[in-house]
Amino acid sequence: MNWDEFSHWGQQISNWAADYHKTLADRPVRAQTAPGEIASQLEIAPPESGEPMEAIMADFERIVMPGITHWQHPRFFAYFPANAAPPSMLAEMLVTTIAAQCMLWQTAPAATEVESVMVDWLRQALGLPDGMTGVIQDSASSATLSAVLTIRERATGYTGNRQGLNTKGALRIYCSDQVHSSIDRACWVAGIGQDNLIKLPTQGPTYAIDVVALEAAIRDDIEVGHVPAGIIAITGGTGVGACDDLEVVADIAQKYDLYTHLDAAWAGSAMICPEFREALWGGADRYDSIVFNPHKWMGAQFDCAIQFLHDAGPQLNTLKIEPEYLKTTGAEVTNYSEWTIPLGRRFRALKIWFLLRSYGVDGLRTRIRNHVVWANEVAEKIGAMEGFEITTGPILSLFSFRCPGDDAMQQRLVDALNDDGRIYLTQGMFDGRKIIRFQVGQFDTTRDDVLMAADVIREVWETLK
Ligand SMILES: *Cc1c(COP(=O)(O)O)cnc(C)c1O
Repeated sequence: MNWDEFSHWGQQISNWAADYHKTLADRPVRAQTAPGEIASQLEIAPPESGEPMEAIMADFERIVMPGITHWQHPRFFAYFPANAAPPSMLAEMLVTTIAAQCMLWQTAPAATEVESVMVDWLRQALGLPDGMTGVIQDSASSATLSAVLTIRERATGYTGNRQGLNTKGALRIYCSDQVHSSIDRACWVAGIGQDNLIKLPTQGPTYAIDVVALEAAIRDDIEVGHVPAGIIAITGGTGVGACDDLEVVADIAQKYDLYTHLDAAWAGSAMICPEFREALWGGADRYDSIVFNPHKWMGAQFDCAIQFLHDAGPQLNTLKIEPEYLKTTGAEVTNYSEWTIPLGRRFRALKIWFLLRSYGVDGLRTRIRNHVVWANEVAEKIGAMEGFEITTGPILSLFSFRCPGDDAMQQRLVDALNDDGRIYLTQGMFDGRKIIRFQVGQFDTTRDDVLMAADVIREVWETLK
């Protein structure tokens, strides 16, 4: 392909993108394909000779698009939002064009410096203290793994990387039973082991970790010779939005000298609104490491996870490696690959810059506030439907409900709704019962889209009972 053809197709595809977004609401939210249906339409072997772009693009429309679940659909209420606001998409086009590798300052000076400033803009936007630094990672899972490795190294006096894990006594990490599965996997991969990730029950209206049980678990572990190493707290758990009492957990961590990581992957975006900080964010400033995903609720295109660090030292002591070919000379600079596990890094900060400048923090706040209000309204509407029950009330914009009937019936309703295609919901488990999750966070959703969901639920339910 020559650059004139590139320019032609670039314009075609950008027109296609705008049309896609303008007509998105008419498509079923979840792909209506059966497993294997897409693969069976692809050639078995790669082509020997090149094909014209017309043919490639036509097949993209014909084969790929029917197999897409539309995360940007205004009636996407499943999982969590993964937004791609238009300015962040445009930034990504530029990033794709430049294709810089942002591992060292020298390999991408502008990317490194924009990243430092964007982390600091977001620190201010989330009401975190001056002096906290951070890095942009691909996902919350990677940030959490970095934090768990840091917990491990700090607790072993930074010997684990060199000597392997032959500590006296098991390293123990504590969290509530509402944490995301990325916490479990980080503990598997870091050599902590599932059995040494101690999950404690939750209590109260925000399903916060039982702090009495937390402290008792730490004391019991010390008694039998285990080594308490860290605590992972949550603001906005994936299941029902659980939020820990951050101050009390930080007090306990301080008392036992434990490293702390806070998973706010989804709910962190809402902390740009001071009124939510008051209820759910007090004490966040005391956490050694905090992760939140602007690629979820805030509107930055995937992937984009911010890891804030009080002091980058422990994580650099854990992850920094400097072979000769990565050494640079001259002034002291930041080399972000030393803060993370992958060496190669994308220029993720540009989409944050475009996003924040295009909407302003206040423009983003308005969207999030609306989502929270509309989630409360639709929860009320569903709760008023005969036989329906709100199982967990809204925490920010996430709540759960049940229709009349047993667990199997909940799944039947979810499947029927997703086959219907007008809205998209997913199920979860809470307190040993199947629940249906509902979250509002899609960037372009409207109040009508959200409230209409209750009508669709009632209508589809009528066909099942
Ligand atoms: C989405 C989510 C994660 C995982 O995020 P990735 O960026 O996909 O790794 C972790 N924790 C919570 C609370 C989440 O909502």
